[in-house]
Amino acid sequence: MKFHVMTLFPEMVEQGLHTSILGRAMDAGIISVNTVNIRDYSEDKHRHVDDYPYGGGAGMVMAAEPIAKCYEAIAGAINQDGTEAGAKRTRVVYLTPWGRVFDQQLAKELAGEEELVFLCGHYEGVDERVLTEIVTDYVSIGDYVLSGGELPAMVMIDAIARMVPGVLTNEESGETESFMNGLLEYPQYTRPEEWRGQPVPEVLLSGHHAKVAEWRMQRSIDRTVKYRPELMDGVTLDKKSAKYYRELLAKDAEDRQD
Ligand code: SAM
Repeated sequence: MKFHVMTLFPEMVEQGLHTSILGRAMDAGIISVNTVNIRDYSEDKHRHVDDYPYGGGAGMVMAAEPIAKCYEAIAGAINQDGTEAGAKRTRVVYLTPWGRVFDQQLAKELAGEEELVFLCGHYEGVDERVLTEIVTDYVSIGDYVLSGGELPAMVMIDAIARMVPGVLTNEESGETESFMNGLLEYPQYTRPEEWRGQPVPEVLLSGHHAKVAEWRMQRSIDRTVKYRPELMDGVTLDKKSAKYYRELLAKDAEDRQD
């Protein structure tokens, strides 16, 4: 899978992503990250890419033309790489606090694309006219404001790449991670068996796979109910787990009455 990132800070994205699991996947050619400096497409002699906002107000706005040119260069390269005439347009994601909030579901959906283009904003944002022209998806990584779109693009690329076949090894498999079945992940333990007086739950030492699976499912439910109860609405539980969940809710209600 190929990621193209339009940015004013290509080194930040390159260095941030070329480590650990993603670095290994890039070296193996499973994914690639092509960063393109928007400033290279400025026609201003001082290589400016921003200007004052019409209507006044604080800060600067990224101008439309360098971004459009930068996008056209990427789109041209994508087409030369074998996109057939009339084929589906490559999705272009603008990272913005007012976009749809990114989640595992969207990561999974985007992992099905062959190529993705990201536009990282800076300053007060980007001239609306170029957004309407090139962007297909507006995505936020949460309800707070960051200085630029680079960190959000890196967050998205990491989460998406983990779902590309071959990026995770069998041992790193994402199957049991938080959100994969709609629940948060169960608690994890490693050696030693007892740490500062706290033993590892006995069932995990039992070697009894079915009991371990049941314990993990119940702890996932406990954790989801405690930290993200709203997620439970979208979860499908098997009969046994559904019974456990009902009993947990009944016990919670009883405790609150006491
Ligand atoms: N004036 C903009 C607003 O109020 O919506 C915020 C601009 S912000 C300082 C600069 C850039 O950072 C944005 O154009 C966007 O690309 C990126 N950014 C900031 N917060 C973000 C978030 N929560 N999710 C995704 N991108 C974000």
